[in-house]
Amino acid sequence: MGPEFVLLPALLMLLAWAVLLWTWRTSLCRHWKEPMLRHPVLIIESDDWGPGPALHGERLTALADTLARHRDKADHPALMTLGLVLAVPDSAAMRAGSLQDYRRLELDDARCAAVLAAMERGATRGVFALQLHGMEHYWPPALLRAARDDASLRSWLLDQEFPAYEDLPPALQSRWVDGAQLPSGTLDADSIGRAVREETKAFQRIFQSAPRVAVPPTFIWTRTVETAWMAAGIEVIITPGRRYTGRDATGQPTGVEASIHNGESAGPMALYLVRDIYFEPLRGHAPAKVLAEARRRFRLARPALLETHRSNFVGSETDFEHSLAQLDTLLADALRDCPDLRFLSPRELARLYRDRPAEWCVHSRWIRLHLWLRRLAALPRLRKLAWLSGLALPAALLWWLSAAPARRAGIPA
Ligand SMILES: [Zn+2]
Repeated sequence: MGPEFVLLPALLMLLAWAVLLWTWRTSLCRHWKEPMLRHPVLIIESDDWGPGPALHGERLTALADTLARHRDKADHPALMTLGLVLAVPDSAAMRAGSLQDYRRLELDDARCAAVLAAMERGATRGVFALQLHGMEHYWPPALLRAARDDASLRSWLLDQEFPAYEDLPPALQSRWVDGAQLPSGTLDADSIGRAVREETKAFQRIFQSAPRVAVPPTFIWTRTVETAWMAAGIEVIITPGRRYTGRDATGQPTGVEASIHNGESAGPMALYLVRDIYFEPLRGHAPAKVLAEARRRFRLARPALLETHRSNFVGSETDFEHSLAQLDTLLADALRDCPDLRFLSPRELARLYRDRPAEWCVHSRWIRLHLWLRRLAALPRLRKLAWLSGLALPAALLWWLSAAPARRAGIPA
């Protein structure tokens, strides 16, 4: 048996490894570059709060009291972000005019005083972080156009004091596309720029501070929107890990432009965060399951950003009590299971990602290598290809070599 019987398979295997590494190079680099957190960070993101009756103010105060009862290792209270919608249609004013004449009722209108006061009190207590969700949870010209041929939309616009945007057809809830038709249409850059300047100025007027974090409604937005937000001072863009840019003929999100990692730069002054765990108590997302998902993120040195909505907290008394009890359980269990848990705001987390202080981010190459391998092992397709090609063997050796330094540094297994 000549040496070619050994050399040839070995060469083929090396070639397979090279092809695999080359094909996956972008992903490998991004998982390496994504900062690695030393501590488990939990952020509960709650969207859609906006103009509403005094009852919403009471519910926000009860939420704030529950959050304040749970404190992390650094004695910070549990924190919930409020993704804020700044306006709804002013139905009374619009009834008096024509449907073409859009009028808005903003969050600092006297009719919303109780809600606004509860938001501001919570922010002062450090349990709410106020973020921009949008001036409206829709694109007003698209909504008006759709309402011309739709009696239920006309009724939504004209017949209630605080119409719930959660009740609109999903395509119309997307603010940054024209959802009056499907597939959705695009908006022109000038209109987007004007709308962003208007909403960031309104936020500044209402809360006496500029918005720094933006959450695109329904997670459909474009690079043009991001550029306008950044020009208006936005530092953090919350994403589901990819940018959907439109809706298809059936109304589903489509047009994925980019996959996004935590801490990735969106521009010179702004970065992205990834929110990818659902916590909607009224949809049956139980605390135990949510926590299991969060622990999976912590193991990969990532934060856990949970997504919830005001709809869990503004309905019947029974629904509210259920959602509040689930939140209470989630926080208590999270602190018990992860004693090192930290509550941060997205803005604080973004600053850590930017500055990467040693007490928050892993810098040791061996430990980073270990966490990187964990991240890669969590990608099912790559894992399978690595085993098929044999590349898993050197990876396993590196895993074994880097496990001890990680253990010594207190990184949980
Ligand atoms: Zn929303």
